[in-house]
Amino acid sequence: ESSDDKFYPSQLRDKYTITKTLGKGAYGEVKLAFEKNTCEKYAIKIVSKKTFTINGKHKTDLNNQILSEINILKKLEHPCIIKIKEVIDTPDTVFIVLELVEGGELFDKIISIEKYDEPTAKFLFYQMVQAIKYLHDQGITHRDLKPENILLVSNETNESLIKITDFGLSRFFDSTSVMKTFCGTPNYLAPEVLKTRGQGAYTNKIDNWSLGVILYICLVGFPPFSDEKSVQSMEQQIIKGAYSFPAEYWSGISKEAIDLIKNLMCVDPLQRISLDQVLEHDWLKNCPEITKRAC
Ligand code: ADP
Ligand code: MG
Repeated sequence: ESSDDKFYPSQLRDKYTITKTLGKGAYGEVKLAFEKNTCEKYAIKIVSKKTFTINGKHKTDLNNQILSEINILKKLEHPCIIKIKEVIDTPDTVFIVLELVEGGELFDKIISIEKYDEPTAKFLFYQMVQAIKYLHDQGITHRDLKPENILLVSNETNESLIKITDFGLSRFFDSTSVMKTFCGTPNYLAPEVLKTRGQGAYTNKIDNWSLGVILYICLVGFPPFSDEKSVQSMEQQIIKGAYSFPAEYWSGISKEAIDLIKNLMCVDPLQRISLDQVLEHDWLKNCPEITKRAC
């Protein structure tokens, strides 16, 4: 691994020792790093500037819109949002130094345990709602909420604290990268995003839709839409809001949970439930104190 070291710019190498890969997404690779002065561990997200654009134009100079955006992200402070420590800007690549989370992705956890029981799902979901409400209150839409971007603090217990990552910057990536989203599974994309193929103007309500899809998956371990036929057919299902709660899997789950999912996965963004209303919803309003203390 240390043979890779020479490929990193000295700006980064002087301060951090970069080791193994922690994860990969559409835009970047995330590596484990040690700060040399403190021996503290961090996650460093490596983003090639080839993918950065502003108003459709490629940018290699971050002195403007993107830097000011990153500065906003650096000021965010919430227990369920990944903290950005610093951003190291080099000619070809941006290195984003992040708080490290070691329990893995919610995505892998659901695959390994199949599904969460309702109290545990509530514990996790309450944190997600608080975190996304915090982002929305700061004027930030996540845009890419999915179980790969929800990290677990601990893998030892199902009742883990969560931290949300990968927010805020996606609007600076170029349209070929946006197309990557459309090549991947559209499972979490709100109908209004699909209808306009990512070209429309939409609000932070797109995150509320994704939260509904995530809650559905947490409770039964499979997604509300199926791509068995084709991705196009899945997109049509989403646009129509054609999903159901097969009794075989949902009969043991409370009607309040199902009602909340229906309110989040409401095709019309204007009718879709707000996050303040989610916190007042019957499924969450009386959640245990321990859950409320998580964030
Ligand atoms: P992308 O924009 O390419 O999707 P992400 O920021 O989502 O990149 O990171 C990709 C993956 O790297 C995540 O799904 C996760 O597995 C891992 N990862 C990201 N941030 C951290 C972190 N702070 N701590 C540990 N792992 C992380
Ligand atoms: Mg990601």
